[in-house]
Parts: sequence; C-alpha cells; structure tokens
Amino acid sequence: MNAPYPWLAATWRQLLATRGRPAQALLLAGPRGVGKGALAQAWAQTLLCETPRDGGEACGACPACHWFEAGTHPDYLHLTLQEKTTKEGDTRLATAIEVEQARAAVDFVQLSTYRAGRRVVRIEPADALNLASANALLKVLEEPPLNTVFVLVSDQPRRLLPTIRSRCARLDIGLPTVETASHWLRGQNLEIDAGTVLALSGAPLDAVRWIESGEWETRRELLEQLARPAELDPVGLGERWKTLPPRLWHGVAYKWLADVLAVRLRGQVRFNLDFAAALDRLGGRADLAKLLALTRQQSEEGRVLEHPLNRVLQMQAWLVRYRHVFD
Ligand SMILES: [Zn+2]
Repeated sequence: MNAPYPWLAATWRQLLATRGRPAQALLLAGPRGVGKGALAQAWAQTLLCETPRDGGEACGACPACHWFEAGTHPDYLHLTLQEKTTKEGDTRLATAIEVEQARAAVDFVQLSTYRAGRRVVRIEPADALNLASANALLKVLEEPPLNTVFVLVSDQPRRLLPTIRSRCARLDIGLPTVETASHWLRGQNLEIDAGTVLALSGAPLDAVRWIESGEWETRRELLEQLARPAELDPVGLGERWKTLPPRLWHGVAYKWLADVLAVRLRGQVRFNLDFAAALDRLGGRADLAKLLALTRQQSEEGRVLEHPLNRVLQMQAWLVRYRHVFD
C-alpha cells in the first residue's frame, strides 16, 4: 500500500517507520483538502493488518484487511459527526461529537480486542469534540489501554483543548508544492483548471470536493453574473441566490472582491485566474472608495456565517452596492 497521495509519501514513510511502536495518541494536523483523513484511514489499516509487508504496509489480503476495507473491522472505531434529522425532515451533520459518543468510545477501548491484535480509534474532526466529550476521553488518551491507538485528525488544531493536544504526538501535514499538486490534478480528469484551484485554495482535494458537491458549477454561475455588473438584476438574483449556503457565497464573493481590488491596485488577479479577462476589465473601472467599503463589509460578514433573518433583502442590497462600484 502506497501513500494515499503522492505529496504524502514522506509522511507515510515516517509513519511506517513507527509501526512497531506507534504513538498511542497521534494528531494529524493541517489544512483541509490535503488528505489527512485518507492518511488516517491507511494508517489504521496498516496497524490492524495481520500479515503486513516487509516495509510495514498493510497487505490488503488478510482477513483484517478485508474487514477493514469493508468497514466492518471489529477493533476499529471512527468517532465522527453524526447525521441528524431536523424538524423539517432535512438531514444535517451534527455540529459536535457528543458526549454519549465519547463515552461509547471509552467503553470500546476497555473491552478486550476481538482479533487479539491492536485496536484503533480515529477521531475526525477532532476539533468537533465539545468540552464534555473531550473530558470524557481525556483519561483514556492519557493512559490508553494496551495495544490501543488513537488517531485524531483536525483542520483546526488550535480549537482542540490544550489538555487533549498535549496528550498527542503531532504530525503536521502542509500543502503540497504547486508542482506536485498541479501534476496530480492534471491526472484526475476533473475538468477544472489546476492553476485556478491552486490559486483559490492550494489544497488539491478541494478541487475534487468542489466538483462532487456542485460548488464549482455554482461558483461559475455566480461569477458570470458578477462579471457583468451593468446587466445585474439585484431583485431577481437576490431571490434566486437566497438559498446559497452562506459559507459558499461568502467565499466566492470575498475572493472576487479581493481580485477586483488587486487588479485596481496592482493590475494582478490573485484567485480567480479563470476569470482574469473579466477582472481586468472591471478592475480598471472600479471606484476605489466604494470597492474598499464593500470589501470591508464582506470581510466582516465572514465572521458570522449564519443565515441572516432576511437573506433576500440582504443579497439584493449587496448586489445594488456592488453594481454602484462600477457606475
Ligand atoms: Zn492485511
């Protein structure tokens, strides 16, 4: 079994070298979209494999590997956010890992193992542990039962309780080099411009997520409208865009404004490379004071990414202000 992604090869070798005496609580930390989850998964399989290869990698053929790959290994637990059904019948992810889940994990590690080998608990996203669930896990993290390995995964390790962080050996995973990331992206047939993805986020797996979730298509639709401010219809668009997830809208709008500003001030597009021609036109026409004011407002709204009370009105007001930047 190779590293899950080419840019993780060195980290993977580093982990494999510890297979004989693995850290009992390991924290994989780093930005979203670099493959930490896949690395945790591969590491868990490697630890549970009953006939590992000479280099320590999982064999992919023993019963433990089969169960693991089928998601039924009895000595593996993935502690994560649960899906919940709202009153309206929608399915949403819980915002925290609940204390009942943490207590179940504590019970799990105190049983004897089914396969008389190791036992692995993966906690992801570890920053979703709330105070109660983190406290429930503290003791077993401090003194894990024999042969038990915890693997915590987090995009925001600073949000972990210091008491949890201090009990973990930490492995930081950074963004791949532009070269490695674009080479990989070009091999994925994603119909997405590698240069644009890397300018927008730097994390190659974000591209996969954007395509699969439809966010990439939504972004394109939004930007095609914003690229033609004179033809914008704030009333109609406000209505049409009211259901956009706030985080998606904010991210797209903020980086777009930042680009208009970058072109206005320095003649350079930073994020939306695939819209460079439109941005070049807009940057030259933008009223600097109005643009700065709108960018500042957008940046402040980014701190509160909840659905406002009247989304339609807010969206319409934003679009009117945006149009005025280019009067
Ligand atoms: Zn195996």
